[in-house]
Amino acid sequence: MTIDPETTALDTPGCRNGQVFLDSAGSSLAPARVADTVVDHLRRETEIGGYRAAAEREEDLEAGYSVFAELLGCAPEEIAFTDSATRSWFAAFRSIPLKENDRILITEVEYGGNAVAMLRRAEAVGASVEVVPSDPSGEVSPTALRELLDERVRFVSLVHAPTNGGLLNPVREVVDAAHDAGALVLLDGCQSVGQISCRADETGADFIAGTGRKWLRGPRGTGFLYARRSILDDLILDEIDHHGGEWTAPDRTRARDDAKVFELWESSIADRLGLIEAARYALELGVPEIREAVRGISGRLREGLARIEGVRVHDLGVRHSGIVTFDVEGVPAPEVVAALARADVTVTVSREASTRIDMERRGLTEIVRASPHYFVTPQRVDRALELVEGIVRGARNGGA
Ligand SMILES: *Cc1c(COP(=O)(O)O)cnc(C)c1O
Repeated sequence: MTIDPETTALDTPGCRNGQVFLDSAGSSLAPARVADTVVDHLRRETEIGGYRAAAEREEDLEAGYSVFAELLGCAPEEIAFTDSATRSWFAAFRSIPLKENDRILITEVEYGGNAVAMLRRAEAVGASVEVVPSDPSGEVSPTALRELLDERVRFVSLVHAPTNGGLLNPVREVVDAAHDAGALVLLDGCQSVGQISCRADETGADFIAGTGRKWLRGPRGTGFLYARRSILDDLILDEIDHHGGEWTAPDRTRARDDAKVFELWESSIADRLGLIEAARYALELGVPEIREAVRGISGRLREGLARIEGVRVHDLGVRHSGIVTFDVEGVPAPEVVAALARADVTVTVSREASTRIDMERRGLTEIVRASPHYFVTPQRVDRALELVEGIVRGARNGGA
């Protein structure tokens, strides 16, 4: 069934005041039932203590692995919960053996947090990090990738949907090429899970890292990781505690043989429950339905912006996510964001440091990022467009 933005807006306290919320790529608006789940659990902890409160929700916590398995197309034993996408990504990255002369391949839209970690570890062990060129549309080129792959490549880091624009990278082709060369694929699904299908069974990725607060509309400080069970034996598992492993004798340990090996014992149970509730909400709406709705509403915004003289849209690629980036001639991005915020339109700035390779290549430093989810009505997008037109006019008059 088609998603009705009015109905989903009613579930969303942040939509009730008329605000135009266009920042689901940053930190989205949670549905009321997600916020209630978190707050109710915090209250329960104040009544009976965190351990008993968690015990009461044990079944729901366990069911969370199945919920994410359904969302990501894998087995429940292949899911780990963490406190951010970066934490998930790091857990996977640190587990991949890397030695001198090994190679890591990344794409032009690599995310800043991943890049810093890769460059530093590569430098420490004497490995290299190399960029796979994109094709003219901006998608990573599977042909260029195949040329770069050899037996020294340990893994390919692939960002499904970058943080700074509407690009969607081809995942299956990259995974197939990498696997042919014996390399693993670490898929950053941070900007895709919750708005578009990003599944282990369809993509073949070895790891998928994601976050709660963006398109899934979960609480901040939550993340999740898919890890293919059949590769666990080949990984370094040296940052695990007595949840990810077992202290079997004073001088002996054993690691778990499922993805929970990547979890730590302690976590925010309230946030975890909220994250699970957010994933349930997404599954009830339907991932294909969400994709269609986001495609529609972000397409309206992207096309509307492209029609405004003085606005440049910066989205690469042929298929687009719900992220729309642009700038206004003569007006720095933070000023556009501030002007829109004064009219209760929430967008954000995407900066060079988040996606340095792509931004430097295109000569961009700061751009405005608008990311409407399915709960944004066409009327609200049109209001944002009118306001952007007003900013263009104001800049022209001011500059004359
Ligand atoms: C936001 C983002 C991340 C990091 O997510 P956190 O939950 O903040 O750790 C990683 N990759 C991409 C592409 C992102 O947009």
